[in-house]
Amino acid sequence: MAAKNETTNPGDIYAGIPTAYRPDAQQVAAADGERGRSGTNEKGGSKRNLRYPEAPAPLPVAVVDNHTHLDFLDGEVRVEAADALAAAAAVGVKGLIQVGCDVESSEYAVKAANDFPNVLAAVAIHPNDAARLAERGALEEAIARIEQLAADDRVRAIGETGLDYFRTGEEGHAAQEHSFREHLRIAVEQGKALQIHDRDAHDDVVRILKDSPLPRRVVFHCFSGGAELARICNDNGWYMSFAGTVTFKNWPNASYMIPYTVRFMAETRGADLAEFCAQLEANTREVYGAF
Ligand SMILES: [Zn+2]
Ligand SMILES: [Zn+2]
Repeated sequence: MAAKNETTNPGDIYAGIPTAYRPDAQQVAAADGERGRSGTNEKGGSKRNLRYPEAPAPLPVAVVDNHTHLDFLDGEVRVEAADALAAAAAVGVKGLIQVGCDVESSEYAVKAANDFPNVLAAVAIHPNDAARLAERGALEEAIARIEQLAADDRVRAIGETGLDYFRTGEEGHAAQEHSFREHLRIAVEQGKALQIHDRDAHDDVVRILKDSPLPRRVVFHCFSGGAELARICNDNGWYMSFAGTVTFKNWPNASYMIPYTVRFMAETRGADLAEFCAQLEANTREVYGAF
């Protein structure tokens, strides 16, 4: 497959941005019948800057993006998986874990992981989707499909599952807990890692983890707790995964931007960048296995 990483015009304010993420590519997509990606959009009443930053300098040791949604549109433009992977590889992000949130995106994750040697999959019903599905009586069927998908060798994690009290009100909490426990069971039975989505629900996530059989590897994706939860994770050998949110609030993200996050984390810890990358890579391999 051809990587579309042509260089850009000198003086261009988008110089260095991988072609697939550039506004001109987005206009081509718009001409093809897809809606173009505008500079900003309104979401929740606030304007958001949707422009992708230019590509960072490559990392000295290649790492893996542990949590991505290649199939999500943030704004209105679809970036092809092959383009996203090529842009990431060019800056030392050699692979990624594609994460499912519902049946459709989990099926996509399994397909992508089988299509691309540098993609592995995680499958699950996201807690917010679990609450919505339960309302229509469709949750059990969806979990059963996730259980089938999980059997694929390219699926290395069950996730993202957990609890989200930020977007789901109290009426949906019981369904989220039930779904979380079912996903835990699947992870244990099939020997997969667990990727937890925990938003404003630390106490209940920990309560459920403490009274359930657990898979060997448990990851809090996009860790949002404080020192207390970090201590609990460390005491129990659970991984904390830090995401782009350590450097931005709510801007669009992409695998090729991981070097920004990794450099920021290494600097904050006063760590040698190459050693830090090597440790991230070792952790990734420990949790998800070899590609
Ligand atoms: Zn996610
Ligand atoms: Zn999440």
